Amino acid sequence: MIQDIYPHIYRNEFETTLPTAEDALCIVAAGEILVKETAETFELPTCKDFEKSGSLENAHFLFRIDGKPFFLMRLESKQAFEGYTWVNRKYFRHKKPKHLAFAAVTAMQLAGWYNANRFCGKCATPMVRDDKERMVKCPNCGQMVYPRLNPAVIIGIYNGDKLLLTQYKNGPTTNFALVAGFTEIGETFEQTVSREVNEEVGLKVKNIRYYKSQPWSFTDTLLAGFYCELDGDSTIKLEQDELKFGGWFNRKELEPIENNDLSLTNEMINYFRDNPDKF
Ligand SMILES: [Zn+2]
Repeated sequence: MIQDIYPHIYRNEFETTLPTAEDALCIVAAGEILVKETAETFELPTCKDFEKSGSLENAHFLFRIDGKPFFLMRLESKQAFEGYTWVNRKYFRHKKPKHLAFAAVTAMQLAGWYNANRFCGKCATPMVRDDKERMVKCPNCGQMVYPRLNPAVIIGIYNGDKLLLTQYKNGPTTNFALVAGFTEIGETFEQTVSREVNEEVGLKVKNIRYYKSQPWSFTDTLLAGFYCELDGDSTIKLEQDELKFGGWFNRKELEPIENNDLSLTNEMINYFRDNPDKF
């Protein structure tokens, strides 16, 4: 999955370290990030490439990968920088090196959070970055805002040898997906699973069990993967606003998914296909 960057190691403990020449710099503006493209891969700028312009004053710490600090610099608008290209999050779905793709989408997610919290939601005063935690604070009313995630579930519904696959009407890919949805306030993950399955494909399920989670920066989401077993009638009643297809596929029909090292969805489809003894 996108976060599986071993042997590289992501550490997000907050620091107030100042940028130095060799540190990585994530320059973000208008939902895009600056990269240096090479033939098959890409690089992120280093601080030394931008320190001359004096623009590093506003750069602040993001996280480390393999001990190397990554800094964030947010610009009001995109400017042209010779040798660099502005790209959006989608660019990183299949880009190598994978650990830098993960760094870039995570940096863009944090940039989006900082941008969305420039003013206090209670009293509209400009927020100030805290120097002890990854948090912004209102100097007027004291409100503190920490990075917020949208929890959601990915659901592998199985019926004997078969897994239920769907296709979204307006998804980012035309690939098959699993039933998925956001957790509502007041709901457990397990309740989200039951509700979403009922809403999207009109089925009842039992034996809901957790599989794995995944940070999904493309949609500011933290995904929790669950498998569950069909309970009763297998007739699919599709929720047609969101989905264009839903159907049962047995293990022989589940083709190995190419580029399967990115999403939890793909891993869960492959895991079901390859591990009949676990279901
Ligand atoms: Zn306030």
